[in-house]
Amino acid sequence: MSNFHKNILTESSYILLDIDGVILDQNFDNLFWMEWVPEAVASSHDISLNVAKEDIYKTSKELYGTLPWYELKFWEDKYKVDLLAVAERNKSYAMFIDGAEESLKLMTSLDKKIFFLTNCDSRLLKIKSSQVPLLDYADGWISSVDIGVVKEDQDFWKIALEKLNIQPSKSIFFDDNINIVNSAARYGIKKAVHVTEPTNNNSIIYESNARMQISRLADLISAD
Ligand SMILES: [Mg+2]
Repeated sequence: MSNFHKNILTESSYILLDIDGVILDQNFDNLFWMEWVPEAVASSHDISLNVAKEDIYKTSKELYGTLPWYELKFWEDKYKVDLLAVAERNKSYAMFIDGAEESLKLMTSLDKKIFFLTNCDSRLLKIKSSQVPLLDYADGWISSVDIGVVKEDQDFWKIALEKLNIQPSKSIFFDDNINIVNSAARYGIKKAVHVTEPTNNNSIIYESNARMQISRLADLISAD
């Protein structure tokens, strides 16, 4: 279902968007967790980069998709490194996905509420948003780390939607994580859309069997 049109938005009163991989280039997070954090851990513990990478990868695999995996504090406590300093040093890598800002501009021109729903730790989001003015386009946003339950979990939707006063039956939601797209659909979000190209350099392209899918938000403004 690639021939999407912005008409997909017209029946919805609420536009809900994931941030990383949908609005911002996922490459920042990939480099953060796979390169910069291991480098910081290696230098502070005086171990090789490969050993640091293996250790982080092992923990990461065990915790994938759970709250600690997304929480900076968990990793800071485990490795005793200043992750905000790591992010701050590299914040120039935070950028919009091509076409995302134009798509957000189009969305704000429609008579709808726009909310960002993210698993990104709000401490990290603060650094990204100091570099990229994405929050200007939202009526509000919620980080799962702040409410203590991740988007993969049904409780997230109950808490977040009540907090922001969002009706799921009048909502469209975009995320690049298929588990989260499915979680949203299960909760009753009317249209849950899988975004399959989360990076500008196309280092990741997801195969998807989701009922609704687009490559990027830019599809909403480029299709006829
Ligand atoms: Mg994402």
